[in-house]
Parts: sequence; structure tokens; C-alpha cells
Amino acid sequence: MITGHFGLAAAVKSGQRQVPLWALMLATVWLDVVFAPLYMAKIEYIVPVPGTKGGYGEGIIYADYTHSLLGALLIAAVTGALAAWRWNRRSGVVIGAVVFSHWILDLLVHRADLPLLPGNLGGLPRLGLGLWQYPWLTAAIEGALMLVGALLYWRAATGLKGGRTSAAVNTGLLVLIGAATLALDVAGI
Ligand SMILES: [Zn+2]
Repeated sequence: MITGHFGLAAAVKSGQRQVPLWALMLATVWLDVVFAPLYMAKIEYIVPVPGTKGGYGEGIIYADYTHSLLGALLIAAVTGALAAWRWNRRSGVVIGAVVFSHWILDLLVHRADLPLLPGNLGGLPRLGLGLWQYPWLTAAIEGALMLVGALLYWRAATGLKGGRTSAAVNTGLLVLIGAATLALDVAGI
């Protein structure tokens, strides 16, 4: 689930032009970026769903810090504060919200593996609506989200300086990156 997040970044960019697209794209996947070193340190980990090879949508993800509800809110708040300091308050709010949007989208696709508190403190029920049980449906939704985002971005970008040419190049790049990440994701790489 990377492509769907990028689609959201493109859609947000169409309405929030003051925030750079790269920052929005990074913000949508920021929880996964923070997850990477914790995964390498084996603090957070993924186990394959029993009876599967652990491919696209077939993992139970124990990202108990970065993807806990409270952890995600904290990371979003800190990142938003950094963006507000670097740019302005409005951009900070947008970046913070976009960082947290990752958790909401993950909630739709993850199996019930998202804890409420960091480290699954208190052993509270884990959340996840489990759309990944239907991998092709999820991939189609991710692709659709990307296309809608690219379309919104295209409509907004054609009105900016640089006009149609740079809008076409950027939209093309967006679709290419979205298609590549989806292909890699589905191939389980
Ligand atoms: Zn994630």
C-alpha cells in the first residue's frame, strides 16, 4: 500500500499548492519510512498470514510503534510541527494531517494488526478492516486512488506557471511512480 498513499498526496497537492509535492508524497508514506529502521532492528516485524507466501496483502504487520494509533498521532504532530517551522503554520497542519492519513488508509487494508497504544500497551484489541484479504480489489482501489489523485493534480497544475507542459510531465511522472510501486508491491518485491 504505497500507490494509494501517493494518490492521496497528489489529490492534496491540487488543493494545497503551497506545500511541495515531494513533501506531500513523503508525508503520506512517512510512517512506513520510520518503520524501515525499526524493521531492520527487528523491533517491528511482519509475519506471513498462515498458508500464504506473505506476498501483497498477505502479511500480518506488527508495526506496534509507528502504526499504533497514538504513535501515528505523535509522529504526525512532530512532523507537522517541523513543517510549520520550515514553511508556515498552514503547511504544518496539512503535512501533519497527511502523515496521519496514512494510518486511516492502512486501517482499511490491514488485517486486524494495528494497535491503539505503542507497543500494544495493555493488550487492547488491534484494528484493521482487512481489505487485503481481497488483494486484487485492494490493488484496483489503490490504482483508482492514484488515477483520481493524478487527475485532480493535472487539473490544478495546468493553471500554474509552466502550464500544460510541466503539468503533463509531473502528472506523467506521478502515474509512472504510482504504477511502478503498485507493480512492485503486487509482485511482492
Ligand atoms: Zn503503513
